[in-house]
Amino acid sequence: MLYSRLLIPTLKENPAEAEAVSHRLLLRAGMIRKLASGIYNYLPLGLKVLRKVEAIVREEMNRAGAQEVLLPAVQPAELWLESGRWQVYGKELLRFKDRHQRDCCFGPTHEEVITDLVRREVHSYRQLPLNLYQIQVKFRDEIRPRFGLIRGREFIMKDGYSFDVDEAQAEVTYQAMYEAYSRIFRRCGLDFKVVEADTGPIGGSFSHEFMVLADTGEDTLASCTACDYAANLEKAEAVAPDPQPAPVSGPEPCREVATPGVRTVEEVAAFFRTTPAEIIKTLLYETEQGPVAVLLRGDHEVNEVKVKNLLGVTDLFLAGPARVEELTGAEVGFSGPVGLNLPLYADQAVMALARGITGANRSGYHLAGVVPGRDFQPTRVADLRLVTEQDPCPRCGGRITLLKGIEVGHIFKLGAKYSQALKATFLDAAGEERFFFMGCYGIGVSRIVAAAIEQGHDADGIIWPMALAPFQVMLIPISLEEEATRAAAFRVYEELAAAGVEVLLDDRDERPGVKFKDCDLLGIPLRVVVGPKTLARHQAEVRHRRTRETTFVELDKLKDVLTARIAQELHG
Ligand code: ATP
Ligand code: MG
Repeated sequence: MLYSRLLIPTLKENPAEAEAVSHRLLLRAGMIRKLASGIYNYLPLGLKVLRKVEAIVREEMNRAGAQEVLLPAVQPAELWLESGRWQVYGKELLRFKDRHQRDCCFGPTHEEVITDLVRREVHSYRQLPLNLYQIQVKFRDEIRPRFGLIRGREFIMKDGYSFDVDEAQAEVTYQAMYEAYSRIFRRCGLDFKVVEADTGPIGGSFSHEFMVLADTGEDTLASCTACDYAANLEKAEAVAPDPQPAPVSGPEPCREVATPGVRTVEEVAAFFRTTPAEIIKTLLYETEQGPVAVLLRGDHEVNEVKVKNLLGVTDLFLAGPARVEELTGAEVGFSGPVGLNLPLYADQAVMALARGITGANRSGYHLAGVVPGRDFQPTRVADLRLVTEQDPCPRCGGRITLLKGIEVGHIFKLGAKYSQALKATFLDAAGEERFFFMGCYGIGVSRIVAAAIEQGHDADGIIWPMALAPFQVMLIPISLEEEATRAAAFRVYEELAAAGVEVLLDDRDERPGVKFKDCDLLGIPLRVVVGPKTLARHQAEVRHRRTRETTFVELDKLKDVLTARIAQELHG
């Protein structure tokens, strides 16, 4: 293609609104433009990259035996009422009415639609297993759209859904998807990690997220440095500490101590000349089942996902100051479990303390020498905290590191959740009616475009992996006025294009310096420069974007050298 014919509106300045590198560079390289919050236009180069991601996803899904379909973006409310999600999905679901006043939504995901399709069309175990996927636009009215394509409101997703006769067959499908996903992200040239993900109150290890490692990631992962354990921080398990030995002097009753104005964990620890690890903090939460208290060691942070799963609630938010006073009889900062008439959920580390310090449920007072299990009885004891880098690996005892990641894929064993809700059944070999055993598999196709840039960039611009680059080669003639250079440039261009190389010829009437800068900004992996000096030696200059290594290649070997290099980077 000729640069002069393409719409590539590059920007010299950094756009002020863009916080993330990928957002900034996608705008600067003229690949996307914002239409509204979280809603973007894809320009020719941006679309080329998106199409490359799609092609890889499609090839690997097809290779794994999945079939492509295309489902509607607009969905009737009836299906969502049937699954029960019309009420629970919340404001991310964009709802509207059609001209007949019928409730509709713009699909944020397609479990309902696909289950409806399959219950109508599939009736026998002979038609199973079945794995259907689509690559399609989704809309989620995200509360905080940000980082450009990383968290949009309108975005492109590959969503897939599998239907199996039973759990054993579903396991096989899940494994096939796990492998297909690994191949997809490897082919996209991404440095990724697969982590165990939260599965809601059911628990179990049948959900994995594929995380691209990047500092801008919104997710935190806990990863063992010794074994292959890795989990989303939401899910990462804390190992219960050994119980502390009981004090030698014998159990004394706990005592109330006046602590005026001493509220935070740090203030309490300083006041009692101890460490936060000896303090038991009491968090008061509102839930749809009523208020509860969560107990944690002072040096630990609550993991609200674990609390939600233990309680089986979806709403969980901290009680405000007035509500705290109403529930405990004391101001914020003086809550404690002793004598508190609320369900008490204690983290396992709290119960390992021989004695601790807590609020006294009386403003300006704390209790010292509180013995868990003696002075208060928790309703349930569980792992309720976030792990830290001080925690051992739950599998091997090795060291845990916390990393930042961008979730680009998610695979999940659904079981019969949707098939039961929508009464989607088939007849098994014995003629019995059974619910489909389902799985769902998502990939953030447009998010991958951004994630690749988060991992591949430098001060000059984007560094695309060969597999995603909008063009593999950018050909820059030093001057187009000069007839010999011009002719050579077009000759090389035709030859490369005929050999199947994706080549962009910069035929603009610009100084070479401008073209070099744009080439770096656009992130084209290979730059080929032809000019009078090299032509005199029958050579062209080839520069590699990532390594910045420059070589001079004989013109008659150029095609072979470039195709070999491209093939090597594409196929390893
Ligand atoms: P997140 O926790 O990032 O909101 P999710 O758990 O809601 O993701 P899924 O419902 O599993 O995501 O969707 C499948 C995939 O779609 C995700 O793995 C992610 O790559 C992508 N995705 C989800 N939300 C967005 C968004 N707002 N913008 C771009 N991609 C998204
Ligand atoms: Mg989400």
